[in-house]
Amino acid sequence: MDTAMNTGMNRQISRSGHPQDTWYILVVDDDVEVHDVTRLSLHNIRVLGRRIKLFHAMSAVEAAKILSEHPDIAVVLLDVVMESPDAGLQLVHTIRDQLQMPEVRIILRTGQPGYAPEEKVIHDYDINDYKTKQELTHTHLITAIVACLRSYQQIRTINQNRAGLHKIISASSNLLEQTSVQAFSDGVITQIASLLGLSAEGLLCACIPDASAGITGLLPQDPQGPVILGAAGRYADLNQKPLSLLEDSHRRSVIRRCLDEKQHLFLPDETVLYIGREPHAAAIYLQTSRQIDLVDRELIEMFLHNIAVAYQNVTLFQQLRAAAFADPLTRLANRNEFIRLLHETKFPDGVLPVVVLLDLKHFSEINDGLGQDVGDELLRAVAKRLQQTFGADTVIARIDADVFGLIGDEAVLNPLSILAAFDTPFQSGDQQLLVSATLGIGQLDLMGEAGLTRLKRAYIALNAAKRNMLSNYAYYVPRMEEDTEQRLVISRALRDALTHQELQVWYQPQFDLQTQEITGVEALLRWPQSNGDFIAPSVFIPIAEHSGLIVDIGFQVIEQVCQDLAALGREGFPPLRCAVNISMQQFRSPNFISGIVQSVTRAGIRAEQIELEITESVLMDEPDVVITALLQLKKLGITMSIDDFGTGFSSLSYLRQLPVDRMKVDRSFVRDIHQPGGHVIIESILSLGHQLGLRTIAEGIENIEQEQFVRKHGCHEAQGYLYSQAMPLNALRRFIERRRSPRVPAAPLP
Ligand code: C2E
Ligand code: MG
Ligand code: MG
Repeated sequence: MDTAMNTGMNRQISRSGHPQDTWYILVVDDDVEVHDVTRLSLHNIRVLGRRIKLFHAMSAVEAAKILSEHPDIAVVLLDVVMESPDAGLQLVHTIRDQLQMPEVRIILRTGQPGYAPEEKVIHDYDINDYKTKQELTHTHLITAIVACLRSYQQIRTINQNRAGLHKIISASSNLLEQTSVQAFSDGVITQIASLLGLSAEGLLCACIPDASAGITGLLPQDPQGPVILGAAGRYADLNQKPLSLLEDSHRRSVIRRCLDEKQHLFLPDETVLYIGREPHAAAIYLQTSRQIDLVDRELIEMFLHNIAVAYQNVTLFQQLRAAAFADPLTRLANRNEFIRLLHETKFPDGVLPVVVLLDLKHFSEINDGLGQDVGDELLRAVAKRLQQTFGADTVIARIDADVFGLIGDEAVLNPLSILAAFDTPFQSGDQQLLVSATLGIGQLDLMGEAGLTRLKRAYIALNAAKRNMLSNYAYYVPRMEEDTEQRLVISRALRDALTHQELQVWYQPQFDLQTQEITGVEALLRWPQSNGDFIAPSVFIPIAEHSGLIVDIGFQVIEQVCQDLAALGREGFPPLRCAVNISMQQFRSPNFISGIVQSVTRAGIRAEQIELEITESVLMDEPDVVITALLQLKKLGITMSIDDFGTGFSSLSYLRQLPVDRMKVDRSFVRDIHQPGGHVIIESILSLGHQLGLRTIAEGIENIEQEQFVRKHGCHEAQGYLYSQAMPLNALRRFIERRRSPRVPAAPLP
């Protein structure tokens, strides 16, 4: 049988690859003569504007095979009696039930009138006609076939219509699904094609407004050009791709022309329809093989008018959905999208994928100090720099105000390469800003499967890096998580202890190294446990700082200290100076200064009795915040001391600006006095203190040699176990009283 088809440019091609200007009819009969007669009768005939092509089968089995390979066969002329007396009826059964071909029309023919099927079969299996072979003369055959083809065409149109409408309706009602635009577009193409009596082939193209462009995994990254939102038939592969990928330049240009001119183009072989309004306009391209006549144009116009609003809704919702996954400021993926990518991104063999969280240091100061516009500009500049440095193979997202997330190959994403990207300043408005970053890094395969778990673990590494003063990055190791859980437990217990006022303030005395007199005390927190043990401040203070609890704890300590100093005063003790340790978070609290003033005033003590101890690292963390607060407090009479001097990174220029009274030599230097070279450090620290005009105090003095050494090098005061450990207020009272009575030489207390 001749199945060679004319595949000329402008002929519609059906899904099975056949030209659409032809009807396909299958003749099934075990009598060769019937085939010849049928071929002769239908030779050169056109029905409803199309030619007819025949397929031939000599048995029901062969017919079933041909039907399964050619789903666009419109009519089957079927002999009832073939290999078995009811082979034809069996085939009908196969066509409807197994091959699921409800549209194909069936004409039963039989040589023997006695083999007529029952009426029920004709009805159930939707058989169009039943004729004996004698009845089917030339004219009768053509009449029967025309009737069948007409009804086949109607059934097809109705079904295609129904499918198109179904797509449009379900897309409109599932607006929030990612696929809704696609489903909607497919529906529109199918529907219009069906209105024009064509098969569903075409494209729906739109210029995507900015918000949804450029998001990994959402839409193609070609914000300049139109994007194919829906494609049907042979264009299906182009779905969700940029129009630039459509190979045929002529089609590309007519689509662009339609979008530019904002009007339909009815061309000889193709139709491009304009739908919607900017910025939600789209072009629907259909290959029509003929110029659409006026009646059809009106029909299309009406249809487009009806769906325009629905189209606008669908695209608007798509944009909203995109916005939910994109950071509008940098146009990078946002936290939600990053979590999804952490879960789903696949890497080729040989790549060791890592996740990096990058936190910009001091971003809030820049934002507060230079204004939000400069801050925004900086974030955009950082995003751009990261994209330029790490390119297309790395996922880059902004997952928090000043935190960026990256996923990529370890060979590319390592601390050196990332931090090097911050060596040159960022242009932000008129400013050149040099910013640095802290990195939390982890190998994806060590971090579990779920995106959220991986993100949580990357944050654990980032927090570890922030706590580490000596390095700007930390790699995730599982032990960190155990530490984190432990810290959570402690943090909860600490909150309870704070509400139940279980934390105690103890005091460690400080001495004048010349007169041996008590010059002051340092307030040190103690957290007693029910078993009589104490949790060390070195354990719970960092946790309190991290959780922010330190702010409330700090207010309680200052209040307690002021009350205790007032009590001692009332009891006739000479006014005592008390050093109180202050953490960075306390400086950031807006009520910090007023809280201190209130406690001092309420207790009725002198402001000079309170000395704030801040470590060098606190000072260096956010110098401007600290210096501003200290200057205000200084005006009130409160004194300052730099704790753990020598262990931080104080720059001399900051030291000069600070209203500091005292410098505390860290106890590690005191401990190392007798180590080789150990004395040099402590000597230089003391000499620096003198040059800056500060009083010096050595902490951690445990033996007479240490005391003598620091005294010899001009240290003014000392504090340490040689004199006393920290003790509760009552013990302090007794301690001071004992020292007041006949002077006792400095010696450790029992
Ligand atoms: P720090 O301010 O440097 O306090 C001195 C620490 O050295 C205290 O430890 C003290 O008990 C200990 N110490 C004193 N003399 C000696 C000695 O001769 N030898 C040795 N080996 N150690 C000595 P503590 O009480 O465990 O406090 C540890 C840290 O906790 C403090 O270091 C301070 O940074 C912090 N801290 C304590 N109380 C508070 C508080 O109320 N607020 C804040 N923000 N931090 C506090
Ligand atoms: Mg201290
Ligand atoms: Mg100290």
